[in-house]
Amino acid sequence: METEADIFFRKLPKVELHAHLNGSVSFETMEKLIARKPHLNIEHSMTAIRSGQRRTLDECFQVFKVIHQLIDSEEDILMVAKDVIHEFAADGVKYLELRSTPRNEPKTGLSKRIYIETVIEAIRQCKHEGADIDVRFLVAIDRRNGPEVAMETTKLAEDFMLSSDGVVVGLDLSGDPTVGNGKDLLLALQRARNCGLKLALHMSEIPSQKEESELLLDLPPDRIGHGTFLHPEVGGSDSLVDKVCKQNIPLELCLTSNVKGLTVPSYDEHHFQYWYKRRHPCVLCTDDKGVFCTDLSQEYQLAASTFGLSQEDVWALSQQAIQCSFAPEPVKQQLNQRWAKLRPEVLSLFPSCTVNQDFSRLHPKLPDSAPVQIGAISE
Ligand code: 5GP
Repeated sequence: METEADIFFRKLPKVELHAHLNGSVSFETMEKLIARKPHLNIEHSMTAIRSGQRRTLDECFQVFKVIHQLIDSEEDILMVAKDVIHEFAADGVKYLELRSTPRNEPKTGLSKRIYIETVIEAIRQCKHEGADIDVRFLVAIDRRNGPEVAMETTKLAEDFMLSSDGVVVGLDLSGDPTVGNGKDLLLALQRARNCGLKLALHMSEIPSQKEESELLLDLPPDRIGHGTFLHPEVGGSDSLVDKVCKQNIPLELCLTSNVKGLTVPSYDEHHFQYWYKRRHPCVLCTDDKGVFCTDLSQEYQLAASTFGLSQEDVWALSQQAIQCSFAPEPVKQQLNQRWAKLRPEVLSLFPSCTVNQDFSRLHPKLPDSAPVQIGAISE
């Protein structure tokens, strides 16, 4: 049954800035994909990490390989992107930046260009259907594919930035952090910056990335994904923190993803606390709402319950995200006006509701990591 807090967090207008398309596929959409490709013998347990489960980062990346097998045609991408957008809208997200790695799938005739065009078409169709959400797109570079593919992806993103009517706004750097080196991708990232693409870079997701993070911070990026090991308390350094703070680079923070992916030991040890206490711009995000079985309302609720945030704090956090987005200034102004209009209505819904005390239901006990059978991986 929905509690007052559940309703409050859903009604809270929200901005989602870190959502990987193929990681955001819901249970319902997965059903449709599995039914389309029964010969793959893929089950739900291979595509999602449920409540109470945890997996190593490596196992998480294997889950994406399974999902990619299910989503390999123009038709799949259109359906998935539309479903994901409608789901974010239903969760009270008013502005969304989706990101995805364009893929060639020779079996189905999918090219990287068609991939991006299809995501843009999905965004267009959702708008036409009246979805109450403004959606932009970040083209993703998978670091494991090396510098040449990174440059090719940058050029594609550049083309679409100029031709997509403001839908393509930036570039994401993601993929398995244990593979490849950011140093080799600097040229592609610098080119992207110079042509006006915004940069959202995954950084310091694992402890061994200090040197790489120093280099990437000198670009500098416009936002940082995760940044789990930047600060000295977890083996980062004052120099990294100084660079982030001096340049006021916002962090995209994904609580459930980090806890289930075992890069953070528990919710209350999440680095949200470190940056939030310093009043550094932090944006709560889902990362992969399908894989990690969450949504943005739940992530706000988790942050409130774990770190004792009030309704006012939560409101400020969601509004601050507007400023961290890659939306053009007039769009940011419109969003701010929207927030101002919705504020009295949402904050007066349940004035005495304590939004920060629902620990037990939101913090299911997580057992120690046990390897989970993934199977069916051919990539
Ligand atoms: P896609 O780009 O196919 O739409 O979304 C899935 C991809 O996003 C994964 O294959 C991976 O490259 C990237 N991804 C999703 N979640 C994470 C994450 O937590 N960390 C990193 N580094 N990459 C991620």
